[in-house]
Amino acid sequence: MKEVILIKLGEIVLKGLNRKSFEDRLVKNIKHRLHFVGPCKVKNSQSIITVTPIFDDVDIDDVAQCISKIFGIAAFSRACAAEKDIDKIKETAGIYLADQFRRIKSFKVEAKRSDKKFPFTSPEIAREIGGYLAELYPDVAVDVHNPEAVVTIEIRDDAAYIHSEVLKGAGGIPVGTGGKAAILISGGIDSPVAAYMMSKRGIELTAIHFASPPYTSERAEEKVVSLLKKVSEYSGRITMYTVPFTKLQEEIRDKCHEEYFTIIMRRLMMMIAQIIAQKNDCQALITGESLGQVASQTIGAIACTDDACSMPVFRPLIGMDKEEIIEISRKIDTFDISIQPYEDCCTVFTPKHPRTRPVLKNVVAEQNKIDFEKLIGEAVENVRITEI
Ligand code: ATP
Ligand code: MG
Repeated sequence: MKEVILIKLGEIVLKGLNRKSFEDRLVKNIKHRLHFVGPCKVKNSQSIITVTPIFDDVDIDDVAQCISKIFGIAAFSRACAAEKDIDKIKETAGIYLADQFRRIKSFKVEAKRSDKKFPFTSPEIAREIGGYLAELYPDVAVDVHNPEAVVTIEIRDDAAYIHSEVLKGAGGIPVGTGGKAAILISGGIDSPVAAYMMSKRGIELTAIHFASPPYTSERAEEKVVSLLKKVSEYSGRITMYTVPFTKLQEEIRDKCHEEYFTIIMRRLMMMIAQIIAQKNDCQALITGESLGQVASQTIGAIACTDDACSMPVFRPLIGMDKEEIIEISRKIDTFDISIQPYEDCCTVFTPKHPRTRPVLKNVVAEQNKIDFEKLIGEAVENVRITEI
């Protein structure tokens, strides 16, 4: 039996005058994402987006899976369309709900009639269909107060839709309506989660990864690509910039005092990231930092890092515990990739005793021992681009 997907709009409905552009963007995102699943018709009318597979071989499970990861959707249902004739609706509902009605003990029917030309009122439709289903499935009782399943009949302009299960959407707001930002992505647990969280707030992502071959391997970079692929199931496509970071790190190692290694490295990362971000119309940087997690994530260290760039830096994990971050990483399926043991440039040349309370003027003095402007220029010139 041919199924469609009905999408209820999420937070978008609160956006007043912007609503139209939010809806248009959501429809565009849905079309773009479904492109990889199979050809579907996507129609937005009467506050509901209807997704209809064009060919029978499009797998509706795959379509539903894809829809469940698109931000801006609060809830959706799988539904069956019937001709707008009360007997046809009964017959279709009887067949469509058969599997579910074998499992449940009670139900009720609700009806919504947005096509006012349909010759039955909503309560009449509910009564008619409810009576029919009760007779067809005598073991399932009608219970208007506490039913196990609520069958909804929606009489819309193009057809009557029957559905009974409301599935949770990804929430958030449509990607692209919140501007563009660059995520500094490592192979760790935190940064993919940070990327997901900002994408959920409507931000389109660009990714920047620092690699230090031969200290970091090609496998480590492939791991980052795998992580971004997972994130892109939610965020849509991402362009990744891989920055060659070896020379800078070697210079820091050779010329700066060991206890400042990490903080100087992080400052240079921010400077480079800002240049790449600006070139790509990004308005902010995103990191996976969480306060107090490691020595480079104390307030003092973060202040020193922030001083190196003028763009806003979003740190969505700043107040979260590791356990909370891990929970999200499991949900978005990045955890198992993140824990694969490949080295990150941050773990190369790490000092035994990093400064947890760095003094900015001392950090800057240390940093000035290297010709960082020249090295940054070279690094930016040699970035590699990968489309995710
Ligand atoms: P993560 O799990 O995201 O690696 P972490 O807890 O290991 O974070 P750090 O290694 O100190 O913390 O890194 C802090 C943040 O700096 C990361 O969340 C990420 O945004 C950025 N970062 C670290 N390493 C890299 C890298 N190789 N390339 C790009 N960004 C990086
Ligand atoms: Mg890390």
